Amino acid sequence: LREYVPASGFPKESDMCVTTTGTIKLKLPDQAGSDGVLVKNLYLSCDPSQRSRMTKYEPSTHFVSFQPGLPIRGYGVAEVLDSGHPNFEKGDLVWGITGWEEYSVLTKPAADTLTKIQHTDVPLSYYTGILGMPGMTAYVGFYEICSPKKGQYVFISAASGAVGQLVGQFAKLQGCYVVGSAGSKEKVDLLKNKFGFDDGFNYKEEPDLNAALKKYFPEGIDIYWENVGGKMLDAVLLNMKIGGRIAVCGMISQYNLGGQAEGVHNLMYLVAKRVRVEGFLVPDYYHLYPKFLELVLPYIKEGKIVYVEDKAQGLESGPAALVGLFTGRNVGKQVVVVAPE
Ligand code: NDP
Repeated sequence: LREYVPASGFPKESDMCVTTTGTIKLKLPDQAGSDGVLVKNLYLSCDPSQRSRMTKYEPSTHFVSFQPGLPIRGYGVAEVLDSGHPNFEKGDLVWGITGWEEYSVLTKPAADTLTKIQHTDVPLSYYTGILGMPGMTAYVGFYEICSPKKGQYVFISAASGAVGQLVGQFAKLQGCYVVGSAGSKEKVDLLKNKFGFDDGFNYKEEPDLNAALKKYFPEGIDIYWENVGGKMLDAVLLNMKIGGRIAVCGMISQYNLGGQAEGVHNLMYLVAKRVRVEGFLVPDYYHLYPKFLELVLPYIKEGKIVYVEDKAQGLESGPAALVGLFTGRNVGKQVVVVAPE
């Protein structure tokens, strides 16, 4: 990160730069302490939440800002080259929080976020997506918060992305009727033809979102998976069924608006429709990771769940890939390939 980015406004590629530092010794420096881990980064994950960390916040807020002049941080997949940490040894493959750089020295608390990868018979990049943080997000949000039942009507916004594509497939496996919105024809085709959604629409081509939702859900929506916020949320509130649930996963349309977030006008419908709204943060649920793997790995291996990734090649492609999340440039989970396996 070059310098802090204002809370309002789109992040730009030029907010970041790729630099080469002098030669490094590929061993744990003494100051890393006895529990540090030296890793070679293989894949990095682009996540909307990284935007928030480009802005300087008061220490009391939920976000921990990146430090200008230092590599930005995020989820990634890496190989352990050296370790003083009791949980890891040389040669282990891990996923968790790392730096956007070729090699990272991870000390506590970052080293404690690492999870050793036990299953390597799937693409390793999946641990940035379906088998990593976004996959867990879809899993806990859908099964722990949405209370899904067979035959219910499910609507997902930003449906073709890292989280959305998986929520839709979980909902189909649960026997729900699933419609997603996305920002291009290509993405809507993926929803219908690759992920098995019942229907999908391009929200950018719908002048009246309320009318569009009425067309796709004439009987109303039981479960709304909220990824975008703003106008979409307002239209959804008019179309919820009595006793419906809204899992508030994120509101990407608001992340670049700073203090000027759009007003939501239809909140009063929550009362008449007796809708339960719940926000959640995936790290609160990481203890469920083994249970999640037990469910998802067989689905992947049997081809019952598929996952689309968008792989940018090389660290240099990282800044464009990250800011592209906010214009919908990514088709599927946005990954940066740092070192080919
Ligand atoms: P995606 O892979 O879906 O990428 C972001 C997508 O958001 C873009 O491709 C674009 O798709 C859409 N988008 C961007 N700007 C807008 C806008 N102004 N209005 C509507 N859509 C927009 O990202 P993820 O799947 O990783 O994340 C989805 C959501 O989940 C985000 O809100 C994220 O913050 C949240 N999240 C929350 C977590 C939690 O713990 N609660 C954990 C992980 C993610 P399109 O072309 O369709 O517009």
